[in-house]
Amino acid sequence: MSMQASVQVFIGIGANLGDASVTVSKAIAALAQLPDTTLVAHSALFGSAPIDSSGDDYVNAVAELASNLSATDLLQHLQAIELAHGRERPYRNAPRTLDLDLLLYGDEKINTSDLQVPHPRMTDRAFVLLPLLQLSADISIPGKGRAQSYVAAVANQRIQELPTT
Ligand code: ADP
Ligand code: MG
Repeated sequence: MSMQASVQVFIGIGANLGDASVTVSKAIAALAQLPDTTLVAHSALFGSAPIDSSGDDYVNAVAELASNLSATDLLQHLQAIELAHGRERPYRNAPRTLDLDLLLYGDEKINTSDLQVPHPRMTDRAFVLLPLLQLSADISIPGKGRAQSYVAAVANQRIQELPTT
């Protein structure tokens, strides 16, 4: 039997069409089924006002995985899960059924044309920072320092933890 060290991965989840809470819960369940991957934990669901977008509030969460998949393979799986939930992309920043972002992949920095990790906008978004910090209060973002240090700057963004149902 061979063993390989898994990578600590954080996935940002967002939905705002249809029953967004159900979609986010289904996305978490789909992440738990990924090959060579374990779902370690997920945050509460949060409701947040749309940023650079329109329509209803978003529902957001962050999931922590332990994965032996490459970052590229993970991105492909995330896109497949998005498509399975009927994601359409009529225009940039359109409301979406499901958005899955690879936020952190261990301590790696990745900068290819189709994958930037850490996700370049994660420190600007309360709907990423708050659920991420719920899972890991001390987490550091490669090249950017502690996630906690970005919270004050997003305090104007409306977000609330949703009650568990
Ligand atoms: P956003 O999530 O920034 O609102 P989109 O989900 O519409 O925007 O962007 C999807 C594109 O972003 C994909 O084609 C993918 O190649 C690219 N991308 C780059 N870095 C990442 C990442 N860390 N996670 C997910 N998608 C990424
Ligand atoms: Mg995305």
